[in-house]
Amino acid sequence: MIRLPDPKSHVLARRDAIAAGLRALLPESGLISDPLLLKPYETDGLSAYRQMPLAVALPETTEQVADVLRYCHRNGVRVVPRGAGTSLSGGALPMEDAVVVGLMRMNRILDIDYADRVATVQAGVTNIGITNAVAGNGFFYAPDPSSQLACMIGGNVNMNSGGAHCLKYGVTANNLLGLKIVTIDGEILDIGGAHLDAAGYDWLGLLTGSEGMLAIVTEVQVRILRSPEGARAMLAAFSSNEIAGQCVDAIIGSGIIPVALEFMDRPAIHACEAFAHAGYPLDAEAMLIIEVEGSVVEQDDLLGRLKEICQRFDPISLKVSQSAEESAAIWKGRKGAFGAIGRISPDYLCMDGTIPTSQLPYVLRRIGEMSDAYGLKVANIFHAGDGNLHPLIMFDANDPASFHKAETFGADILKLCVEVGGCLTGEHGVGVEKRDLMPVQFAEHELAQQRGIKSAFDPEWLLNPSKVFPLVEGVEERVAA
Ligand SMILES: Cc1cc2nc3c(=O)[nH]c(=O)nc-3n(C[C@H](O)[C@H](O)[C@H](O)COP(=O)(O)OP(=O)(O)OC[C@H]3O[C@@H](n4cnc5c(N)ncnc54)[C@H](O)[C@@H]3O)c2cc1C
Repeated sequence: MIRLPDPKSHVLARRDAIAAGLRALLPESGLISDPLLLKPYETDGLSAYRQMPLAVALPETTEQVADVLRYCHRNGVRVVPRGAGTSLSGGALPMEDAVVVGLMRMNRILDIDYADRVATVQAGVTNIGITNAVAGNGFFYAPDPSSQLACMIGGNVNMNSGGAHCLKYGVTANNLLGLKIVTIDGEILDIGGAHLDAAGYDWLGLLTGSEGMLAIVTEVQVRILRSPEGARAMLAAFSSNEIAGQCVDAIIGSGIIPVALEFMDRPAIHACEAFAHAGYPLDAEAMLIIEVEGSVVEQDDLLGRLKEICQRFDPISLKVSQSAEESAAIWKGRKGAFGAIGRISPDYLCMDGTIPTSQLPYVLRRIGEMSDAYGLKVANIFHAGDGNLHPLIMFDANDPASFHKAETFGADILKLCVEVGGCLTGEHGVGVEKRDLMPVQFAEHELAQQRGIKSAFDPEWLLNPSKVFPLVEGVEERVAA
């Protein structure tokens, strides 16, 4: 629901004064306050929630970000940092009394050091933009969220994003070396650097995944890696989710680390096949895409061993790609999965939780039972190798009862993840979507410690408030520890 700004004249006067104050600090067209032009910023990838911001600032340099934050700090204005707005948990959702600081104009590659394998880029460079910048020299940036064409490295840092290939290479945190940040009072700080580890406290670890609540990231230094000689995928289809889950557990337990290990259940297989015509087995209940990389000899050896493991679970079919083209065909359906589900149900909630891989068979069975109990279809497509679940719950947005049911179903799945030893989020963050579930994972004293860290960086809670922590007694204010 869109909540328009309070029509009271003093509110409008304050809004105009803030817009004028910020406009003076930014390049021409760097401040948007016209309600029509603000519309594209009213939501993010979690489109079920909407809210128009007070204004949008589009700085082009770190110094301009510092000027904007200093102004907002001095005038008690709340700030919501935003990259591409692809967050699926409402992390970049605006507030009606907050200024959105959009980093999209900070999109320059600043330096590439091939000798030390480090790329320094502005926060608004897209994830794929880093790989595109270095691919010609045989390098790549490893974390690869499915949204990589659009999402930005600053957003990736703040959500600690992962992707299909993170099983082998790790998530953003494992590929991050340094940050330039601006604190809410406008101070510019350099954290980490172009070397492994840094002296003193692990500030980089603290800021990674901080969901825009501690500082605004303006520059990022990441590790770039030599591209592998080649990669090949195989596809293994099974007669039940549980059996496919057991196979995942056996693969991980064998010590082989495929570069990717993706899971799709029957609804996902059918939706993706209809969308991409990738040759997926329509008679299967569940399917794994397993990819290995290295020299041809290494690929053959690993694929042979993986085939042997899969055979222990009576697969319906096994297809080992013989070329890069065949691998691309196997990936085609998976990469278009969210769009494919959108064709059969325009409205769906994409959940994101993690579990120990040994719990996959049990958790998949329980999700199936819950789907029956709620009467809502669910498609499971996820990074199985690291136990990162993404059940897509389909609902009808025109029916408020259906949306409410989908939300409750989603919450039950996340509670189940915590119950079996996992956690509330693998890579999409907490945002507004999961803030009320935080007490399921954390005791009150643990939440108080986390609030204390927020307060140390941002004592007035101006930076992306109302995210991550449960709202206090329905009041949109936080308890500053
Ligand atoms: C189709 C689709 C597929 C997806 N697949 C994946 C996937 O495979 N893996 C995955 O991890 N995620 C995935 N996502 C989620 C999303 O793309 C990631 O969370 C991504 O990192 C968000 O980047 P963004 O630039 O869009 O950030 P935004 O959505 O704009 O912001 C995300 C959060 O970071 C904060 N933020 C953004 N930039 C900055 C900055 N410079 N400084 C401080 N705070 C900042 C925001 O306030 C917000 O809290 C997917 C999303 C979609 C829509």
